[in-house]
Parts: sequence; structure tokens; C-alpha cells
Amino acid sequence: MSQDVVFQDVVSQDLMSQDVMSKKIWIVLQHREGRLHRMSREAIAAGQRLAAALSGQAEAVLLGAGMESLAAEASGYALAAVRVIDDAKLASYTPGGYVSALAPALRAAAPDFVIFPHTYQSIDYFPRLAQEVDAGLLPEITGFDDATGELLFSRPVMGGKLVAQVRVKGEGTTLLSVQSGAFSADAAETGQAPVEALASEEITSDREILGVEEVGGDQIDLTKAEVIVALGRGVGGADKLGPSEELAKLLGAELGASRPVIDSGWLPRDRQIGSSGQTVAPKLYLALGISGAIQHLVGMKGSSTVVAVNKDPGAPIFTVADYGIVGDLHEVVPALTAALEELSD
Ligand SMILES: Cc1cc2nc3c(=O)[nH]c(=O)nc-3n(C[C@H](O)[C@H](O)[C@H](O)COP(=O)(O)OP(=O)(O)OC[C@H]3O[C@@H](n4cnc5c(N)ncnc54)[C@H](O)[C@@H]3O)c2cc1C
Repeated sequence: MSQDVVFQDVVSQDLMSQDVMSKKIWIVLQHREGRLHRMSREAIAAGQRLAAALSGQAEAVLLGAGMESLAAEASGYALAAVRVIDDAKLASYTPGGYVSALAPALRAAAPDFVIFPHTYQSIDYFPRLAQEVDAGLLPEITGFDDATGELLFSRPVMGGKLVAQVRVKGEGTTLLSVQSGAFSADAAETGQAPVEALASEEITSDREILGVEEVGGDQIDLTKAEVIVALGRGVGGADKLGPSEELAKLLGAELGASRPVIDSGWLPRDRQIGSSGQTVAPKLYLALGISGAIQHLVGMKGSSTVVAVNKDPGAPIFTVADYGIVGDLHEVVPALTAALEELSD
């Protein structure tokens, strides 16, 4: 049922017409509460691989206030340098602050590629940064390939139904973000990088952060669940969860969900699975009415057996499913429940 269709798209710079030697790659690291974000390590792995492919140099960039220990953590990776913009005005993230800090530095250093982890924070400001410095923009890459001698980036399009292969054209800088789980954090090579200050101009913030509130308290730990019944938008509403809950009970399963289910308030936030939710690896993952967007897949692709129910035979969830049922879940779920009840009689 594989539906990966690859087509080619050309975004901005003609990489292959340029000298591929000594390319400069920046990796902008995200952090919170004094620790690097997990996806920052994935971005480092991506940057190191890209630098190796281009015979170039990868450097990390850190923004914030009081950055000594974070700079020390980042300097433990095999990077040409860790460049730090340390300024009290960057104590809290604001899009204006980050854009005003990074834009002059990017204009001055003109790196070929700038890698960001594809997080809510990055996508909040890096398109604006690209526009500010007139850079190419390549969001959400899941990999790159230079086997043919031409560098091609992959990124999902149309909700993950297609994979676009993108060749970068033209001169100048390209900003790209790396999808969660696309590069393994464990693949980031360790080393000892020098820490240097990165000069910037006046940092101007366009908003004031009054406080940050953590959503959720007593989280359900789905990472330990052996069986998960995961519900997607296809379930159709909070009032239609009953049959799936009954099936989950029969299977001794925890309920999980895709993001729209959570955003619509049908289930609490701690049930979310995916790049901005929990990463799970149960023995059985039953996906009901879930399309299989990349942000969902990265959170569940470690499941041993995946069973997907979807009325669209082209849904990307079927690319990771061991068993696929093409049909209306409102008919399939009661039928599964009845069959299981019969078996246990
Ligand atoms: C930065 C970022 C982070 C994100 N993080 C996450 C995350 O952590 N987790 C996550 O899940 N998403 C996340 N998303 C959202 C993600 O891109 C998708 O929008 C989301 O996963 C889609 O959820 P879905 O499959 O439930 O809905 P849809 O894409 O709307 O799919 C619904 C599916 O249900 C099927 N369907 C409809 N009716 C029926 C029926 N009666 N019977 C059977 N099938 C039916 C349809 O064919 C369709 O395939 C994130 C997005 C961004 C940009």
C-alpha cells in the first residue's frame, strides 16, 4: 500500500553549479531551561552529515542570555565552532528578538545553509528571517541524498501523501528545518568545539513575555503502554469516541490521539502522539482515522505491529501499517469489537 510518490521541485540556489568545497553550514540550536532541545541534537546530526557531504564546515549558533553552560554542552559535539549571541534581550524567546539578532549575523557571515529543528518555535520566526535576509526557505526536510552527485532534499507535501525532492538553485543562503525524528540524535558526533561570541547589532523585541505556563500536569505515560488505540480526526467528534473506547478496554489498551483530536478538545493533551506529543513503541498500535502525517508517524513508527483503519486507500498511514483495513471506522470498530468478544467467549 506504499504511496510514496516522489516528484522534483526546484527551490532556490543552484548548488551544483557552485563550488561545493568549503560550504558553511550553521545549525541554530533550540534550548529550554538550560538544556538543549532533543531536536537540536538531531539538527546537529543533520548539519554534520550535510557538512560531510559538501566537504564543508558545520557550526552551531546559540541565542539567549547567560549561555555559558549551554555553550559548554554544545561544544561537546564535533563542530567547527559554537557561536553565541548572549544578550539579556534574548532571555525569553520572541520572534522579533531572534530575527533582529540573527539577520545581521547571517548577512555578515553568509553561510550556505542554516539548519533549524522543525519546532513550533522555529516555524514561528524562521520564514520571517528568510524574508528579512532574502534567503531560500526549505522547511521540514526529512533527508537528503547526494548519491547521484546532485544534492536533493526530501520533504513531505500534501499532508505526507507525496515526497518532494528539492534541488536548491541560485546563490546565497538557504534556511532549512529538519523534521523531528528524520535524523537520529544518537548519530550526532561528539568532539570539542571552540566557543566564540557571534557579533550582532541592536536586538529589538516586538513583544514582552509575561510568563510561560506548562500545559498538563499529571501526564499519562504512553511510552510504557503495550497496546495503544490511537484516534484521529476521522473519528469525527468527542461524542463518537464510545465504540473506540470500548475496543480499547477490550484490548487492555491506552487511548492515544493525533493532534487535531487534542486541539479539538476530544481527548486531553497528554494523549497526543507525535513530534509535539509523546513518542511511543507499543507491541500493537491501532490507528483509527489517522491520515499518517509525518509529525504523527515520528511518534509511533517504533511500534512493533501497526494496524490502520482508514477510508482513504491512499492515506500515508498505510505506508507504515503491517495490516491495513480500508473502510469506515464506524463500521470496522464495532465489527472488530464483536469479533474479539467472540474470541474471548
Ligand atoms: C510543528 C507541528 C507539530 C505537529 N505535531 C503533531 C503531533 O505531535 N501529532 C500529530 O498527530 N500531529 C501533529 N501535527 C499535525 C500533523 O501535521 C497533522 O495535521 C495531523 O497529524 C493530522 O491528524 P489526523 O491524521 O488525525 O487528521 P487528518 O489529516 O485530517 O486525517 C484524518 C483521516 O481520517 C480518515 N477518515 C475520515 N473519516 C473516516 C472514517 N469514517 N473512517 C475511517 N477513516 C476516516 C481520512 O481519510 C484521513 O486520512 C503537527 C504539525 C506541526 C506543523
